Amino acid sequence: MIVAIDGPAGAGKSTVARTLATRLGFRYLDTGAMYRALTQLALEKGVSLEDGAALGDLARREPVSFEGDRVFIRDEDVTEAIRLPRIDRVVSSVARHLEVREVMRERQRELGSYGDAVIEGRDIGTVVCPDADVKVYLVADAAERARRRKADRPEIGEQALATDLRLRDERDAAQMQPAPDAQEIDTTELSIEQVVDRIEQLVLARSA
Ligand code: C5P
Repeated sequence: MIVAIDGPAGAGKSTVARTLATRLGFRYLDTGAMYRALTQLALEKGVSLEDGAALGDLARREPVSFEGDRVFIRDEDVTEAIRLPRIDRVVSSVARHLEVREVMRERQRELGSYGDAVIEGRDIGTVVCPDADVKVYLVADAAERARRRKADRPEIGEQALATDLRLRDERDAAQMQPAPDAQEIDTTELSIEQVVDRIEQLVLARSA
């Protein structure tokens, strides 16, 4: 079974998807981490973030891999590096190139094909796994999303974080459409457990 969890940054995707995967005994795939790792490598190698062809080539040559919670590219552990604000601010510029998305989507389908999985991202229910058994689109109001980000990025001011999120939403807009058959859950007033419970109910209903 594939559970697709999409939505904007700060809507609660990662924590919810990871908790749900542990609860169900499913594998967990964080597709945002793949775009982030490629961005990190491109910056390190001085590849222009405007050059879709070069970035697509780099993505094909240097596949991202996961070992438990750790993220690797080119055998380098980039788990912490890819969560830094310098990556938050430019990852959308890398992810918008079709050449990059083609490589990533192919690899995401492969990684998702080994059995039951919870896959989180922006375009999982629409493009990567349009046949996913359960599709969820998480949303939350802007102030709450900025507040959650603040907990992850304590070094940045709230105003700057809110601006970063807004800019990222604008840049990600093209891949941020909910699938028509996705269940939308507004997480603003819900705890992680409550969101996970709701999705688990959808999974159980689907299995029955
Ligand atoms: O989910 P996360 O915030 O880690 O994603 C980082 C960025 O990767 C997003 O802002 C978006 O630009 C890109 N992304 C994407 N498609 C996905 C997952 C992430 O374009 N499926």
